[in-house]
Amino acid sequence: MSEGALLRGASGMPGSIGHLRAATMRGRVCSCGGRDHIEAFASGPGIERSFAERTGSVVPLREVARRAREGDRVAADVIAAAADELGASLAPVIATVDPGTVLLGGGVSELGAALVEPLTEGLRACLRPPFAEVRIEIARAGTDAALRGAAWLAAQTRAAIAERTAASSRPSAPLS
Ligand SMILES: [Zn+2]
Repeated sequence: MSEGALLRGASGMPGSIGHLRAATMRGRVCSCGGRDHIEAFASGPGIERSFAERTGSVVPLREVARRAREGDRVAADVIAAAADELGASLAPVIATVDPGTVLLGGGVSELGAALVEPLTEGLRACLRPPFAEVRIEIARAGTDAALRGAAWLAAQTRAAIAERTAASSRPSAPLS
């Protein structure tokens, strides 16, 4: 969003950085088939995988978050590592776009403060003012954010097409 208006970009996917190469983490194939993409590490499945690699225990993200809250060192570590990666990848975007708020949607939104706090701290450490004041929040639509955004965009597009069709079928005003 910029000044209340949605930034649509040329292809309609501004801010989709998940399939760019991760800033620091290496050694994974992404769900898209690419190598070392941000999503392979700093996403819900990425964090679940990191936890499973360290502990041998395959548990859902919610459980990793619960263990981190209860003081499990490895759980807290894998979330912090994902937050570091996300921060390193987001910092140049934040410096380019200068957003007031970054909303986190998708699976990682389940982590809440467990992710927001280390991510905010990391960004404060690597960004200079005024960018360092950026707010990191969980999107209210949570894990459904992308889906809801797509539905909203589809409705907007349909309305725009209907409007254009109505405008083109209207008789043109006589020239005077
Ligand atoms: Zn990818």
